[in-house]
Amino acid sequence: MTSTKGTVFNIQRYSIDDGPGIRTTVFFKGCPLSCVWCSNPESQNLAPELMHRDSLCKRCFRCVEACPAGAITVGSDGIVIDRDLCDACGECVSTCTHDAMRITGKEMSVDEVFDVVRRDADYYRDSGGGVTLSGGEVLFQPEFALALLKRFREAGFDTCVDSSGQGDTEGLRRLIPYVDLFYFDIKHLDPKVHRAETGRTNENILRNFAEVAVSGVPLAVRVPVVPGFNDSVDAIADIAELVAVHAPRATVHLLPYHRYGQQKYAMLGLDYELAAAETPSEEFLKAARAIMESRGLACEIAV
Ligand code: SF4
Ligand code: SF4
Repeated sequence: MTSTKGTVFNIQRYSIDDGPGIRTTVFFKGCPLSCVWCSNPESQNLAPELMHRDSLCKRCFRCVEACPAGAITVGSDGIVIDRDLCDACGECVSTCTHDAMRITGKEMSVDEVFDVVRRDADYYRDSGGGVTLSGGEVLFQPEFALALLKRFREAGFDTCVDSSGQGDTEGLRRLIPYVDLFYFDIKHLDPKVHRAETGRTNENILRNFAEVAVSGVPLAVRVPVVPGFNDSVDAIADIAELVAVHAPRATVHLLPYHRYGQQKYAMLGLDYELAAAETPSEEFLKAARAIMESRGLACEIAV
């Protein structure tokens, strides 16, 4: 039993994209970065948040009356939510009979998460799978992550941590002994470009990358390929150089930008800055893979 708690926005069972075999992925809520292409914008704030799906809204306006904070008003084109007033109490969610409202994120104990994860133990064993901690950012809640990883290790589950790399280095060091595989994002090596599109420079990430690389824990480097950010030969070559020097046995995963998360920005009342951006061409992705391979790195293009 452990009383450690954290904030989670999803626990996805039967995942096949977050590490080897069949896995359960625990998505932490809260991230110190704010990447403009983020496909999980609901993961960025630590606190639970209200999401409103306008396509399901029937304009009955019962939620306006139900909101104790006065955060919902009637506008010219449906309801308007004042996010500064909303404390995610959930009254409007239970009032809305059309599933147009939901709260994303909830506090969970280690025991509660473990109770979900252990249900699929047979699948992990049969498929070579396990549990993945993802986000948001795992390092943003290091005590919760550590307690979960210890619990999974005790149960004999394979563990993977999928991290942006931004976070306290000491907290990362404490996690490493309980991790069987790291997925580690490297986005851009120019600190100014990095800050412009993610909100932070990359020094902390590169320091943490070196920590993981020397630890000997198997490592896959994840490179989101984003138009106008790092879809250039120079940017990819810089990343290839870094990985080849520090983690030559790592596999590189190229993750082409996509717009899957766009609708969620509207549900959170956020602007989506990359509305006009296109998915990188197959030709460029193959060229990027060739750059990685020319440095002796195994490289896969995610679909
Ligand atoms: S209660 Fe639901 S359907 Fe009615 S206005 Fe509010 S969000 Fe829309
Ligand atoms: S979650 Fe609560 S505070 Fe926020 S809009 Fe709904 S009823 Fe109002």
